[in-house]
Amino acid sequence: MCAALARSSSTVNTIGILLLGLAASAGAARAQDAPAWTRGATCYEVFVRSFQDSDGDGIGDLNGLTARLDYINDGNPRSTRSLGARCLWLMPVAESPSYHGYDVTDYYRVAHDYGTNEDFERLVAAAHKRGIKVLVDLVLNHTSNRHPHFLAALRDSTSSYRAWYRWSPTKLDRGTWGSELWHKSPERDEYYYGLFSSSMPDLNYENPAVRDEANRVGRFWLDSMHVDGFRLDAVSFLVEHGAQIMHTRETHQVLHDFQQSMRAARPDVYTVGEVTFPNATLLSYYADQLTSYFAFEVADSLIAAVRSGSARGLLAPALQLERDAPTGRWSPFLRNHDQPRTLTELGGDMARARVAALLLLTMPGMPFVYYGEEIGMSGGKPDERIRTPMQWSSGHEAGFTPGTAWEQMQGDSLTRTVSAEERDPSSLLALYRRLIHLRARCAALAAGALVPLQASDDAVAAYLRRTDDGAVLIVANLSAKPLAGVSIESAAGALGAGRWRARDLLARTSPATLEIDGEGRVRQYIALPTLAPMQGHLFALARTTRTAGAGSAPTRAPHIPRDACSD
Ligand code: CA
Repeated sequence: MCAALARSSSTVNTIGILLLGLAASAGAARAQDAPAWTRGATCYEVFVRSFQDSDGDGIGDLNGLTARLDYINDGNPRSTRSLGARCLWLMPVAESPSYHGYDVTDYYRVAHDYGTNEDFERLVAAAHKRGIKVLVDLVLNHTSNRHPHFLAALRDSTSSYRAWYRWSPTKLDRGTWGSELWHKSPERDEYYYGLFSSSMPDLNYENPAVRDEANRVGRFWLDSMHVDGFRLDAVSFLVEHGAQIMHTRETHQVLHDFQQSMRAARPDVYTVGEVTFPNATLLSYYADQLTSYFAFEVADSLIAAVRSGSARGLLAPALQLERDAPTGRWSPFLRNHDQPRTLTELGGDMARARVAALLLLTMPGMPFVYYGEEIGMSGGKPDERIRTPMQWSSGHEAGFTPGTAWEQMQGDSLTRTVSAEERDPSSLLALYRRLIHLRARCAALAAGALVPLQASDDAVAAYLRRTDDGAVLIVANLSAKPLAGVSIESAAGALGAGRWRARDLLARTSPATLEIDGEGRVRQYIALPTLAPMQGHLFALARTTRTAGAGSAPTRAPHIPRDACSD
């Protein structure tokens, strides 16, 4: 808060920031609130190995990423040549024998392929200078089977590290999981537990020494490497309880204690957990555990709606989380590094990818965008093919490396590139940039409530993001044909009574004025005579007249300078 005050120059700004600060400190009593910087922010997920190679070995590295930071955010909020992401999630950067890094051999050292700890510190400093927060992937469920602690435990039956892992003299049942859980020791006649594979032995979190070590690792990255938080891998599986291998009471306790420990070091630390389960299960991870969780069911609903061309069921998962989870503590996304890319899921249809982006970036919470999604990179399983090198230009290896890329580029790597899309104002990249910047500067998109609306055609998605001062109406035709005369309705209390002027934030259309009755209902509103195929609109709504005696609260909220949706 002090830093924010120091930056403000005008009285108006100071008052606005003071009010924001008061809101933040009032919220500070609730220990798990998302930190203030997440408001309006978008987070960009990067696989370092595939982003930019700086030294010609064909492997992306930290210095390469640092050199590309201006692409992610150049520090100028007005810039149109920057994505405008205010947060960066790096997939694992710690030492690991695998290409993906999800099996760590040294939690305190950056992978030699990626550079040095000093390179990492320079990256973080350069990111912070541009207003980008940095999250690193923390893999706490298991280590690599080549981690020195596991090797000591394997070889020496008296090693204290024996108690860091789980052993059995016999091969135990695989239960309902389907794959092998217990793996034969290469050293003696016994088995060790590894949920994901034999190369990833699970840590034994019933051992207090393991819990202490997890806290030490977290503190190291916060205190010595200056990160702002963590993406926590596979958190559902941390502690087993008898035959129960996920969602145990003990797992919730470990997450709670880890978060407490990190908050003691950094009160505004941000943590986001990977819980790959539907909302009903996800909801048990709130209350007093991590800051946020990825909303996999929301991701699937967005993709399914755009793929099927039907908005039925689009909003249900998001509305459930808005109702049952604390504000700002679930994170929408489309696809991540474990899933086929959005464009591939959508049959290679760029028009559909555009609508998917529009839906994602108008959801509540801090959205996550996997690198390359913003230019429409393609890729399906196996995993290496959904993690291919970033396509920068039509040059050698698409500008990713002066050498030979560690993984073969996609077939469209020379045509679907950042440089080509930067020249095209109608490109997917241009749309991502526009939406991410809008989100940062528009209070309704940053923090507004999600209000569902009912369109007269199932192919049309319609909802509001609404604050006390104004709202943005999102209307998107998910079908491949133009739709005429689509009208929109709402339940009572959707908007304050009166006349609302609508302004298209993305295109030059002239939407009709909206009349809201005394019950606050949207009735038979036809924004545009025709909705073009696969076309989405963001209409900023501003009330021009108020209906007398309608009982709506007077607006007294502070003026938010330069709000892109309220001028
Ligand atoms: Ca390299």
